[in-house]
Amino acid sequence: MIQPERVVSTVCPFCGVGCNLELHVRDGFIYKATSSFNSVVNHGNLCVKGRFGHDFIYHPQRVTVPLIRKKPQRPGDRTQAFDLSEWREISWDEALDYVADRLVDIYQREGPHAMAVYCCAKATNEDNYLLQKMYRALFRTNNVDHCTRLCHAASVVALQMAIGSAAMSNTAAEVIENDVFILTGSNPTENHPIIALQMKAAVRKHGAKLIVVDPRRIEMVDYATLYLPIKPGTDVPVFSAMAHVILKEGLYNRQFVEERTENFEAFATSMEKFTPEYAESISGVDRNLIIQAARLYATAKNAAIYWALGIPESSHGVANALSLINLALLTGHIGRRGTGLNPLRGQNNVQGASDAGAMPWHYPGYQRVDIEENARRWEQAWNIEPGGLSRQLGLTTTEILSSVGPGGVRALYIMGENPMMSEPNLNHTRQKMQELEFLVAQDLFINESGAFADVFLPAASWAEKEGTFTNTDRRVQRVRQVIPPRGQSRPDWEIICDLAKRIEKRLGRPTTAYWDYRHPSEILEEMGRYVPEYAGVTYERLEREGGLQTPVWDKQHPGTPFLFAETFPRGRGKFHPLDYTPNAEMPDDDYPFVLSTGRVLEHWHGGTLTRHSWLDDLFPEPLVDIHPDDAARLGIQNGDAVRVTSRRASIVLRARVTPKTNPGVVFIPFHFHEAAANLLTHDIIDPQAKIPEYKAAVVRVSKARPE
Ligand code: SF4
Repeated sequence: MIQPERVVSTVCPFCGVGCNLELHVRDGFIYKATSSFNSVVNHGNLCVKGRFGHDFIYHPQRVTVPLIRKKPQRPGDRTQAFDLSEWREISWDEALDYVADRLVDIYQREGPHAMAVYCCAKATNEDNYLLQKMYRALFRTNNVDHCTRLCHAASVVALQMAIGSAAMSNTAAEVIENDVFILTGSNPTENHPIIALQMKAAVRKHGAKLIVVDPRRIEMVDYATLYLPIKPGTDVPVFSAMAHVILKEGLYNRQFVEERTENFEAFATSMEKFTPEYAESISGVDRNLIIQAARLYATAKNAAIYWALGIPESSHGVANALSLINLALLTGHIGRRGTGLNPLRGQNNVQGASDAGAMPWHYPGYQRVDIEENARRWEQAWNIEPGGLSRQLGLTTTEILSSVGPGGVRALYIMGENPMMSEPNLNHTRQKMQELEFLVAQDLFINESGAFADVFLPAASWAEKEGTFTNTDRRVQRVRQVIPPRGQSRPDWEIICDLAKRIEKRLGRPTTAYWDYRHPSEILEEMGRYVPEYAGVTYERLEREGGLQTPVWDKQHPGTPFLFAETFPRGRGKFHPLDYTPNAEMPDDDYPFVLSTGRVLEHWHGGTLTRHSWLDDLFPEPLVDIHPDDAARLGIQNGDAVRVTSRRASIVLRARVTPKTNPGVVFIPFHFHEAAANLLTHDIIDPQAKIPEYKAAVVRVSKARPE
């Protein structure tokens, strides 16, 4: 058996669970991943991605030298170049000077509104803090966002409105302390596999009762006491009908409502119309199931709610999330161990990137950019003249691309994201990418978005740099360098500092922000000086204590496993009256199916990493899930090529006939460029959170015939 020369502890680079990894190295090569049974996050368990998905580091298509396009790109006729023959290798100095020249030229000619950046939920807290700092401090714009906009933005907005804090209120492993828990819009077996293990243990070993509310018959239904097979987008009627029952039967927590909430009367009045009969007529869920679920949840000693993207990815995602929050406030199932509101975050560091200010309306620490006191604080932090930072809310990811064109965004910098796979209505996205005047991609591979770039900056992988990730339950953990960066690739934070200094020199401003960090620990220290929740997080403590759950108010504070024991950040929790709003698109004779998009266990998001791993051999092609009844009616058999058509596009892929999806609903994972699911989705967004409705585009399905 091969014996490792070194075993280095770090964190999994994939999902938000944040499992601890031990990477085994021999002859400078990472050949194996295991995990320690002592890990408080995953107790030695890993899913297939964590165990086997790290080989992308060595993939032959990985780019490890800076590249520039041979043919100059112009707005309107920008093209994709995947083939290296269309690029020229250049030195780092040439690449960074060129990027600085072009960005400064566009900024000085067009102004701050022409500049925009996509930060990255896969990158470290330190990388994200620096990239938003570069754009805010140097280009004076808040056009800073990342893929949180495309996943939990509506949960964040709703939680901020109702309680003033957007993170998971509990530690994930606390699920075993639930007597009852609701799982909705979430398929943890595929998307948060280690949390799914903990949920199964809660049911099988600890006797918890599980209520699943989902348009797909996901694996967790096998563990459920109740399954409510909801039609996509009818969350508000179902959860509000549960509130209706709880109110009508006097099952709510009067003391909690009186002492810790506000706006109860208006909320209670608005719930009157949501009778179980009304909810059944809209959602298709049997009224008796709704009544049983309401009683089970309300009468539990400890109950919690877990949700993922089925709730926020909707044109009324904020209302969906508010309908869950209302239930927790009504029953007082929040503020104690084993109770709470838990949006399960998707990517490894989407929580941390949001904490670090990679968002258009907030500085680090969720400090609004349009509040004078906050802007002053960050001007001081970054040595900027008073009034220098923009007080205007920036554009969100979808708005950034929509605004590309004369008078709008002209230059885009993408660190590690892939909007050409992740944005809705990809034909529109493609058109906007083509219209950019200048595009920089900083990544490991030339993905569908990077292929449009003028310059490609090769980044080090997570195993080749130091930093921290913050997982879904607010746990800040150390990411450790295991091997040197491959080729000439460099850690993102180093690239940003080097580029920022060049930009600053060209701008010739009298005051200068600081860019001379010797180690990422100094970056986190700077963030902690101005973000109270991170004040007590230091590398020294992380080395000693393993991980710290924010808020960590000072160097002695132990961290916070669950939130809101005494109060909510906004004071009282606020009930919100709700109305039912249908999805932006509803099935009709031409488009009779609702398409839901999502992930599969073996892949991850736009596929940039997992499709360059042997994980791709395990799930090598896109499939559309269709219910056996629908398949029989359409004459479709398992494995047949089918055409799926929406109002925007048509794709061909093979069918997987499965009772996992309910009649009238089809499911397509969004990892595959060969049949990109987001060609079909529409770009109508929630008006408050600006999140697209990925879970409910209408489509028709037919057997594919040769064109
Ligand atoms: Fe990695 Fe998530 Fe799998 Fe854990 S559950 S090994 S964090 S992908």
